[in-house]
Amino acid sequence: MAFLEALAKAAPAVHLTTFGKTSEGRSLPLAVIGVPDATPQAVRRTGKLRVYIQGNIHGGEVEGKESAQMLLRDLAQGKHAEWLQSMVLLVAPIYNADGNERIALNNRGPQHGPMGGQGQRPNAQGLDLNRDHMKLDSPEARAVVRLMNDYDPHVSIDLHTTNGTRHAYFLTYAPPLNPSIDPAIVGLLRNDWLPSVTRTIRSKYGWDYYYYGPTLTLRSKIA
Ligand SMILES: [Zn+2]
Repeated sequence: MAFLEALAKAAPAVHLTTFGKTSEGRSLPLAVIGVPDATPQAVRRTGKLRVYIQGNIHGGEVEGKESAQMLLRDLAQGKHAEWLQSMVLLVAPIYNADGNERIALNNRGPQHGPMGGQGQRPNAQGLDLNRDHMKLDSPEARAVVRLMNDYDPHVSIDLHTTNGTRHAYFLTYAPPLNPSIDPAIVGLLRNDWLPSVTRTIRSKYGWDYYYYGPTLTLRSKIA
């Protein structure tokens, strides 16, 4: 929160708001960039592509939270300014804020770091927020549904960590897996966007990407 508040104070382009509260009453921060103010009406009025980036749905999976803040810092410093001509970014770095605060050394088994420990996977009610999008038992999930209805993002990116689990690749991604998804959306991701991520990361860092899922990755490794 201190980082986001400092960022919003230093950079007028970053608008800080909240989209709900956790079951323990913590505010869920939302940083909005690429628009004159953070209200859903102002964001929709721009007519720009609306991209929602969410970190820390699982409180111990910290990379998304940290990288989302690094991205906001870059944008606040004027990097990638051309993105914001056609795009509004809605960034929620810490969706499971209560889980994040329950830092302990043994929350993520074999995950390598952070050295000081990690938050826990479920929220304070013991609910996995990534299993609550249908029944909406948590105030966090109800808040994200409200955010989806109010801001109506075209693209949503949900960030996780696989470190400490068994995958053939350090980096994994997934298109939407629900059978109701329009095949054109899955096709765009599988044939265009995700391969482009793979090529870029390989050329810049020499690391390969592959689809999320232990079974799939193990099969591909055997194959
Ligand atoms: Zn996760």
